[in-house]
Order: sequence, then structure tokens, then C-alpha cells
Amino acid sequence: MVGKRTPFIAGNWKMNLDHLQAVAFTQKLAWSLKDAKHDPADAEVAVFPPFTDIRSVQTLIAADNLPIAYGAQDVSAHDSGAYTGEVSGAFLAKLECAYVIIGHSERRTLHGETDADVNAKVLAAHRHGIVPVLCVGETAEDLEAHGPSAVPVAQLRAALENVEGAKGLVIAYEPVWAIGSGQAATPQQAEQVCEALRGVLRDLFGDEVAGETRVLYGGSVKAANIASFLREPNVDGALVGGASLDIDEFSSIVRFKK
Ligand code: PGA
Repeated sequence: MVGKRTPFIAGNWKMNLDHLQAVAFTQKLAWSLKDAKHDPADAEVAVFPPFTDIRSVQTLIAADNLPIAYGAQDVSAHDSGAYTGEVSGAFLAKLECAYVIIGHSERRTLHGETDADVNAKVLAAHRHGIVPVLCVGETAEDLEAHGPSAVPVAQLRAALENVEGAKGLVIAYEPVWAIGSGQAATPQQAEQVCEALRGVLRDLFGDEVAGETRVLYGGSVKAANIASFLREPNVDGALVGGASLDIDEFSSIVRFKK
């Protein structure tokens, strides 16, 4: 059974835009949404700035009550203490982050994050009332060796150990070979894996949670292909990297028409 899910369009800025650029970008995005008479019921729009930008983005969004959600790109598995360089979920909650990206493939590959680390971070986000945007996805080698769904499904199961689905989740299927490569998955490939991931949610948490949870596709999403993904029944939005940094492109993406 498929529940009603508001599409979610998320911009992952990665390590781009300082806090001044972030404010300018968010302001332009807000104007564009206003111009387009954007209805938040049609799509939830979110940005994921670097940590150092979050306070500025929060201030702008709160001051003008802008229809833009925001979150962080990572969170510590720990809540406080001697963890130099890490940022606690408690701090993100104080900044009213609704979401946090967890398990992005760049964290897994460049920072050696394991499935166990990802699981600990999901639990940390939930301790602080923040919804994880939990990323899973296979490499080109995984795809060749195991087919499309096996690795993302295994990563999702591992990430959700001891997790209460009722506390809220967004899942992002991001094939590693599609990230930043300009070679997006086909809508059919995305649908196949997103459907399998929803099957895991059904298995772990039941029909209601599976029907409510948004499963996104990410990897070389742009204005020209967003609608084709959103036409698929199990794809509920997109996690956008490169194209989220270009205001015209990102504005076109959030105005997608199926
Ligand atoms: P891309 O990145 O849109 O630049 O492929 C997506 C992501 O890494 O979330």
C-alpha cells in the first residue's frame, strides 16, 4: 500500500558556498519559489549547507518564514565530549535542523564510514529529533557483481538496526557511479531499487511506515531529468548535488512538472 508522500527536493551543497554565499543563494531560491507561486504541498524544498552556514541560513529562513527546510550534511554518533572536529545532533537540533544527511557515499569512501557508523549516526539523529536522510547506493563494481538492489538493500538493513521507523526517515538511493558523473540511472533503474528499499521498510516497520517514508533518487539529477524520476511510483524526490549550486537549474528542478 502506498501512502500520500509529499515530494522532497533536496540540495546537497557539499563543501561549497560560504555563509555569505549561502545567504544570497537561499534568498534567491526563496524569490524563485515566490515567483513560481510554489505550493509546499506540491514539493518540500530543502537545502543542506556546510555546518558553518547553518546559523545564517536558519536566521534568514526564520526571519521571513521562508518555505525552505534545511539540514546538515553529517552528524556525530556521539552527543558531546572529546571528539575534536565533530558536530553533535544536540547542536543541530538547537539550530532547528529538521534533517541530516547520513551515510553519503563521500563519507563512506573518503572518511571510511562503515554501516555500523551509519547506524550509530541514525540513532544519534533520532535521539535529537532530527530526521535522517539516509543514503545508500552501490558502486559500479557492486552493480556488476551483485545486480542493482543487493548492496543498497544490505546497507539499508544495516543502517536501521535498532532504529524505530516511527521517528521518521527519508531514504536516498544514490548509485555511486551516478554521483557527479553526469550519467544518471534510468528512471526504471531508480524505481527498481527504490521499490526494493521500500520493501525493506515494509518488512522492518510495516505498511504504514513504508507507505509514508519518502525514498529519493540521487546522482546527476538536473532540470532535464527530474520529472522522469518523479513519474515513478516509488521515487518521491531527489537529492541533488552539483545542480543544486546553480540557482537557475535548482529553481527549475524544484518547479518540476510530472
Ligand atoms: P550529483 O550529486 O547530483 O552532483 O550527482 C548527488 C549527491 O552526491 O548527493
